[in-house]
Amino acid sequence: MGKLEKLKLTEIHPEGWLKRQLQIQMNGLTGKLYDIWDSVGSYSGWLGGTGESWERAPYYLDGLVPLSYYLEDKEHWELCCRFIEWTLNSQQEDGNFGPKVTLHEPWSKFAMLKVLIQYEEITGDARVIPFAVNYLQYIADVSKKIKIREWSEARIPDLLYVAKWVYDRTKEKKILDLMRQIDQASFDWCDYLEQLPFPRPAAYYMNWKLYEDQVSRTALEDMAPYHATHIVNVAMGLKHPAVRNVYAGETEYYASVAEKGIGDLIRHHGVASGCLNGDEHLAGNNPSQGSELCSVVEYMFSLQALLESFGSTAYADQMERLAYNALPATITEDFMAHQYLQQANQIMADDTERPWFNNSKESNMFGLEPNFGCCTANMHQGWPKFVNSLWYKEDSNTVVSMCFAPNTLKTRIAGEETVIELCTEYPFRDTLSYQIQKAPKKAITVKIRVPNWCEDFTIACAGAEIVTDKAARMIVVTKAFQEGDQIEVRYPMEVTYSTWYHKSVAVERGPLVYGLNMKEKWVVKKEVAGVKDYCVYPESDWNYAIARDRGSVDVREAEISETPFSKEFAPVHLQVSAKKLAEWGLDGGNTMDLPPSPVKANVEEVKIDLIPFGCTKLRISQFPYYEAKED
Ligand SMILES: [Zn+2]
Repeated sequence: MGKLEKLKLTEIHPEGWLKRQLQIQMNGLTGKLYDIWDSVGSYSGWLGGTGESWERAPYYLDGLVPLSYYLEDKEHWELCCRFIEWTLNSQQEDGNFGPKVTLHEPWSKFAMLKVLIQYEEITGDARVIPFAVNYLQYIADVSKKIKIREWSEARIPDLLYVAKWVYDRTKEKKILDLMRQIDQASFDWCDYLEQLPFPRPAAYYMNWKLYEDQVSRTALEDMAPYHATHIVNVAMGLKHPAVRNVYAGETEYYASVAEKGIGDLIRHHGVASGCLNGDEHLAGNNPSQGSELCSVVEYMFSLQALLESFGSTAYADQMERLAYNALPATITEDFMAHQYLQQANQIMADDTERPWFNNSKESNMFGLEPNFGCCTANMHQGWPKFVNSLWYKEDSNTVVSMCFAPNTLKTRIAGEETVIELCTEYPFRDTLSYQIQKAPKKAITVKIRVPNWCEDFTIACAGAEIVTDKAARMIVVTKAFQEGDQIEVRYPMEVTYSTWYHKSVAVERGPLVYGLNMKEKWVVKKEVAGVKDYCVYPESDWNYAIARDRGSVDVREAEISETPFSKEFAPVHLQVSAKKLAEWGLDGGNTMDLPPSPVKANVEEVKIDLIPFGCTKLRISQFPYYEAKED
C-alpha cells in the first residue's frame, strides 16, 4: 500500500476491553513502580539523583507517558513531567543530554527521545523538536570522530525513528542529511535482514560458557555475534529498512528486505505466539526455548515503524499475533508480575535449570524482576503504544483501520472534524461496528484491513461505494457520511492449524492462538518490596497429541470479563479431540523434545479444553498431531 501517516496519540482513544486492560496495567506495576522499585524511583539519574542513570527510566516513561494520557491519570502524568522537565533542562551546548555518569553513552538517549516525541504529541511543547534536532546533530558530529559501539551501535535505528518523526513533522531536508550521516554509524540490520547470518540458535556460533570463563563481560559484549544475536537488538533492528527508506527512498527494495528478513527470522526462530525465540540470544524455533518480554514489546514497536513506511497489512497481522497472544500471556492478570522469558510450550514456570543460552534459571518465573530488570522497566510500552497502530491516514481524505480493538478516532479528514467509534469485542468476537459520530460534508474513504486468516467476509454500509482491494487486503468504503451512519464488518473466525517445529500444530481461530487450559498451582517463592515472585507448577496432564480435524472442534464463547485475558473466565473455549502420549515426558522443567508429527497413539481419544494463549500461564500451544484415520 505504501507510506502511511502515523496519527498523533491524541487522535485515537482506547475504549471497551482495551481501556480496561490499560487501567489494569496502571493499577498494577506500571502505576506502582516509581514508589517500589529504586531503578526508576526518586533517586533516578533522570531526576538528577545518584541512582540508575541508563535505560530504565526512559524505558518506563516510554509506556507511562501514553498510559497516563489515555487514562487521564493526573498523578502519573505529573510524575512523567518531572522526568521530562529534568531531561529537557539537561541539554548541553553540544546537544548531548542526560545524567552526567552516562553522558558518554548514547543508547539511553535514543530511548528518552522516544518518550519526548510522545510527550510532544500530547502537549505540543515547542522545546522538543529543537532539542531532538540538537541531539541528532550531536550524534552526527560524534560519529565522525569516534566509533559508536555496542548497544548504541546496534540500536541506532531507534534514533533514526525519532529523526523520521521529526522529518515527518518539519519536512526539513537537513533532517534527511543528518539521518544519512547517523545511519553510517549504525549496525547494518538491512544487510542482516537481506541475508540472515544466524539461521541457527546462537549456541551454534558462540560457546557462551567458554567465553564467559575466558574474557570479561565487556570484551564479550564487544564481539560481533553478541549484539547481532541479542534478541532485543534484533527486535529493534527490524525497523531499520523502514527508517533508512525515509532518506534512501527505495521503497520497493526496503519493503522487500523487511519482508524477507522477518520471514526468515520467523522460519528459523519463530513460535506460534508470534515471538522470536531468544534467551537472550536467538534460540531457534523449539517451543521450549524462551522469548524475552523486552523483545515482544520492541518487535511490536518495530512493526509500527514498518506499517508507517510500507503500509503492508502483514505487519498488522503480526502485531495482533503478538499483542493478543504473547503479550498478555507473559504478565499476570493483575499486572503485578511478569516473566523475563516465556515459552510457547510452558508446562512449568519455576527456577529449574533450563537450556537457555545465557539467562538465569529464574528467567521464566513470574515476579518483579526475574533474571534481570530490563523487562520490569520496558514492558509498559506494549499496550499503550499498540493503541497508536489502530488507525493511520493514507491521504488527507482517507483513514485506514489497521489493527482492531475498541476505540474512538477523533481526527480531521478532508479538513473537517471526524469522529468514528469502533465498537467491537475483537479479538474474542468477529464483528466490527464503526459508528460515525461526526463526519465531513464531502465524501471520504475509510479503508479496513482484511486479516490474513480471513477469506470470506461480509460488509454493510448503506449508501456507500464499497470495493475490495484484494492485493492490498483492504475493504475500501467511500461515502459522504452522516452522523449515525454505520459500517458493519464480519470476519468469520474459523478454526485453523498452523505448522511449526517438528511439524507440530498450533490451533488458531482468528487472531488468537489457543493453548491447553492447564490446572496451575502458584507458589510464592519470595517477596521483594511487597511484590511476590511465583513459581507455577502443573496440576494436570499436558502431554497430548491432537487430531488435526476442524470438524472435531467445539467452539464455546463465554462472556468477556472485566479482565479481558482471564484464565478463569476465558472468553472462548475450544474442545479438541486428543490422545495422551505416554512417552512424551518431562525433561527438567520443560517437555521432552516434541515428537515429530504425525505421531502414532493407539489409545482412547479424549476431549481437551483450549483457551486463548493470552489467558494461559502454563500451556502447550504447539501440539504433536495424529492422523484421525489411523484407528
Ligand atoms: Zn528485558
